[in-house]
Amino acid sequence: MRKKLDLELNKDALAIFDLFTHLLNDPMLRNDLKAQIQKGDRADWALRQVVESYANRFAKMSDVYMRERAQDVKELGQRLLFFLHNTEQPVHEFNEPVILVVRELTASILASVPKEQLLAVVSLEGAANSHAAILSRAMGIPAVMGVNTNPERLSGKVGIVDGYSGEIFPDPSNELLLEYQELVTEETELSRMVEQTVDLEASTNDGKRIQIMLNAGLSADTSISLNKNVDGVGLYRTEISFLLQQQFPSEEEQVHQYRSVLGAYPTKRVVMRTLDIGGDKPLPYLPIDEDNPFLGWRGIRFTLDHPDIFLIQLRAMLRASEGLDNLSILLPMVSSVQELDGATALIDQAYQEVSAEHPKVKRPEIGVMIEVPSMLYLLPFMAQKVDFVSVGTNDLTQYLLAVDRNNAQVADIYETLHPSVLAAMKHIFETCQSYHLPVCICGELAGDPIGALLLVGLGYDTLSMNTSNVAKVKYLLRQTSQQELKLLADKALMQPYGETIYNQMRDYFEDKGLAGFIRAGKS
Ligand code: PEP
Ligand code: MG
Repeated sequence: MRKKLDLELNKDALAIFDLFTHLLNDPMLRNDLKAQIQKGDRADWALRQVVESYANRFAKMSDVYMRERAQDVKELGQRLLFFLHNTEQPVHEFNEPVILVVRELTASILASVPKEQLLAVVSLEGAANSHAAILSRAMGIPAVMGVNTNPERLSGKVGIVDGYSGEIFPDPSNELLLEYQELVTEETELSRMVEQTVDLEASTNDGKRIQIMLNAGLSADTSISLNKNVDGVGLYRTEISFLLQQQFPSEEEQVHQYRSVLGAYPTKRVVMRTLDIGGDKPLPYLPIDEDNPFLGWRGIRFTLDHPDIFLIQLRAMLRASEGLDNLSILLPMVSSVQELDGATALIDQAYQEVSAEHPKVKRPEIGVMIEVPSMLYLLPFMAQKVDFVSVGTNDLTQYLLAVDRNNAQVADIYETLHPSVLAAMKHIFETCQSYHLPVCICGELAGDPIGALLLVGLGYDTLSMNTSNVAKVKYLLRQTSQQELKLLADKALMQPYGETIYNQMRDYFEDKGLAGFIRAGKS
């Protein structure tokens, strides 16, 4: 780069490259990197840690000039990281199906093992609602997150991974193996049973029609998994293609990708969410270094600070919708009306630009995610400004309970059936109803057997979920009535403990002969 820019930059600017060259040749930095890798870290993680410790050292220096060099060190780290990742993703082939044990599960790790060979995943870090866990659930691959074990101990062994109970059993006894083989058979039978009603529309047995939408996009490949038995796509997460690439995808690339999604559901509504990076989804080519990433530069906060990136994405979505007219745009992580106003202005701008060239492009409906608690109190204002809202229970739970959805240490505090989560869901439903604001649930709760029934009991009629949950939820709804579910929800709302709510629901499932849907591991 220095050579390329030699003639164009002044001396001061070029001095930065001299510092880079100097650092790159510094034996101390090299040795520290090597030592970190020898400790067992992956190259990119080692790089990150060493660069951070160097940057921190610079940042603490008393000399202002030296302090400012902290930023240069970070920039060097980012460039190295870029080149480290700038090769084709390796694809691992194994001779037989494997259980993958990783320190931290990511979308690209999942993408690197052919799905047919992947029996299950065990991750030392992360929790059940980490994005990588949601992704493996969507792919139908059992995953256990936040396991406190020594991976060396598991290497090469036969094992059982129980995705229901979150347990792993290395070297299981014959009895245990047999018990689990029976559970697998029961699970296969249950899947076969629920598949029988998957073609029917979803409704309760007293005729309450429920819209079942699909959560898509959180998939390692860019093609959308086709599921014709749904009422549309309730959440298309756009960030994965940004995460798996080495740079921001171009407008053309995005048009191509979004068109294939919109085109797969030409007669149904497709809700595309704008980029929601940050949190546990940092971009490899734009590492964001924050103490509290989930409270930091995430979702709409990032895109409003990068209108260039945002406008390209919006333009691509609008162009992709030409002639199909089934696009709705959803904004993630909104916490204030100003953010919505800012985003709406950019959507207006993108629409003007695109419709000047493509006059037939229709103006899409615009919605916001309800996933930051402040939004509960802003609903009356939002109702004046948006066409619909979608509740992200994964983040709403994390922010309502102040518990990191990604942290194994506090995974048991992340209670999806916490009484305050249920109370919030009731509040959102009632407020939306009084403002005639359409509302959908697109967090994992909507696809969970207990969650789905409670949500319908609270009054919700649009649930968006992973394709692997569609058949089960449709089947379950047919076994119940709206009346029954309302009673269940009312009863749940009176409980002070999440555990009691779970137990009540478990009893209900058992009474109905539906215990197989919520099986919590081996007997
Ligand atoms: C949510 O937060 O519930 C949600 C649907 O979005 P994500 O899981 O992508 O953060
Ligand atoms: Mg979210």
